[in-house]
Amino acid sequence: MANVKTIEQGFCSLCGRALLPNEGYLNLSAGSHICSHCIGKIRVMHPLTLTWDKKGNEVRHDPIEALSLEEAGRDLEHAIAFTEELRAKYDHHNAVFMVESVTTEKGGFLKPQVIYACGRVVYGYFDPQDKARLLHKGSASDVTLSGITELAFYGASKYPCQGTGGIPCALEFSGKNLNCEAGDLIVKD
Ligand SMILES: [Zn+2]
Repeated sequence: MANVKTIEQGFCSLCGRALLPNEGYLNLSAGSHICSHCIGKIRVMHPLTLTWDKKGNEVRHDPIEALSLEEAGRDLEHAIAFTEELRAKYDHHNAVFMVESVTTEKGGFLKPQVIYACGRVVYGYFDPQDKARLLHKGSASDVTLSGITELAFYGASKYPCQGTGGIPCALEFSGKNLNCEAGDLIVKD
């Protein structure tokens, strides 16, 4: 028999799903592994952070890798309640993004500048074309997202990514007279 596929990493220690290398998985302590689906559910409780070394190489700090299997299982049970508590804290918006830094780009002839709000999704999810509101010093502006991209050492990269709870990323949008700075929130209702 030729071309037999083997699943080298076995199965998710939490939900039993087969671990496929192209979907991503994490190693926990004591040799257990969890799948991308379970990671996605508890990511909101354990935000991923990225830094860059002097050469511009990305360094990931993933608190999920430090969890025991018992802790990850307990978090999986509490993830929905945790998100509900966050929603209550942030005025029940459906999704919240925290701006940590901002880069801008000229928008072309007669077009407004393009803003890349770099930070992380606190909870919920953001998709391209989403209508959102930028909350800046007590004022709210309507914005339509034109892209969600990964972060890079220089700000926003060109690589699209999923804007889900706990994930560092950049939200791209443009508009006239928009002010956006660190500490602002971008929300969806
Ligand atoms: Zn799983």
